[in-house]
Amino acid sequence: MFTTNSHPTGRHFLQIPGPSPVPDRVLRAMSLPTIDHRGPEFGALGRQVLLGMREIFQTKQPVVIYPASGTGAWEAALVNTLSPGDDVLMYETGHFASLWAQLARRLGLKPEVLTLQVDDPVLPNAPGWRRGVQADLIEERLRKDDAHRIKAVCVVHNETSTGVTSDIAAVRRAIDAARHPALLLVDSISGLASADYRHDEWGVDVTVSGSQKGLMLPPGMSFNALSPRALEASKTARLPRSFWAWDEIVEMNKTGYWPYTPNTNLLYGLSESLDMLLGEGLPQVFARHQRWAAGVRAAVEAWGLPIQCADPAVYSPILTGVITPEGVDADEVRRLIHERFDLSLGTGLGKLKGRMFRMGHLGDSNDLTLVAMVAGVEMGLKLAGVPLADSGVRAIMAHFERG
Ligand SMILES: *Cc1c(COP(=O)(O)O)cnc(C)c1O
Repeated sequence: MFTTNSHPTGRHFLQIPGPSPVPDRVLRAMSLPTIDHRGPEFGALGRQVLLGMREIFQTKQPVVIYPASGTGAWEAALVNTLSPGDDVLMYETGHFASLWAQLARRLGLKPEVLTLQVDDPVLPNAPGWRRGVQADLIEERLRKDDAHRIKAVCVVHNETSTGVTSDIAAVRRAIDAARHPALLLVDSISGLASADYRHDEWGVDVTVSGSQKGLMLPPGMSFNALSPRALEASKTARLPRSFWAWDEIVEMNKTGYWPYTPNTNLLYGLSESLDMLLGEGLPQVFARHQRWAAGVRAAVEAWGLPIQCADPAVYSPILTGVITPEGVDADEVRRLIHERFDLSLGTGLGKLKGRMFRMGHLGDSNDLTLVAMVAGVEMGLKLAGVPLADSGVRAIMAHFERG
């Protein structure tokens, strides 16, 4: 049997920005016996979670659930709406945005990647990875595309590699201002159910999401929220698809079933997490993450270390990226913290490797687990010889004491 026995006492601190800590309620719900996926009980479960997911996406349109990681739902969004050789405009806010562009290239699409070029003394090699999507750059590019060759605009809502969110409503306004018919495809794999997200109101055509971040589930399930325009586009899109094809799934989902075997026990977990999130109320869920994030940032500011996100207007409520001083290998700090305090932090991805680490504040957390995370990081930074201006632990405690 697989065992995580290297630290025998207490719970591991899973503070990476996904998979997030899974609530015991969800784990218990998932331990129920697997049922017949064509039987009468299953239809009721399927209908319930499909309706619940519409509330989470804030949409009245169909949501498709795949037994796959988020990457599968990325692929599904592209193959259902586009044709071989189509131009797509993809905005690079970080590593996940660049992986989505790579996926598009492998599918035979022609991604054009936009990113921000500005002087950044802290991270001169990745200034665009410290800021959100600049909607004006998208508008400017679309205005030049008189022939409407660009078929879709792809952006990441919460860039998990950096801790920067983007203003999706502004991207929709930019597309409309340019009077351009491109579809708007958004990755909210880590933003959904933690940061405010409004699929219908923001005019998104496909939103991609996954189970293991804000929904507080284990990995293995992912989502596409659709729009009428996306469904229309899927009728003429020519990229090959079978497993990902919306038509069959959407039709069968009307009765709560799938064309193939869905992951039954993850759906039990989803039903439970929907009860938790919708029971609390989405505005409360979003405010809770904002408050946690502000507490964690207070700690980073007390240490005197730069936050990866350089624009306070778009700080992520889900995770905080911390840049380590020049010459300090962030991965070595992470390794030390894991070894000494059984606490996992997110690594610096792509261009950020070794330069930063990421602290997650999502999933089954509370004020005290986050204070403990900050304590573990603070001890690790000291052990690694990083000079700290002040105590982050005192700062996060003061933040949470205020209410
Ligand atoms: C986690 C994540 C992904 C990748 O999802 P997988 O489930 O690992 O395939 C893509 N984009 C973002 C923004 C993510 O946070």
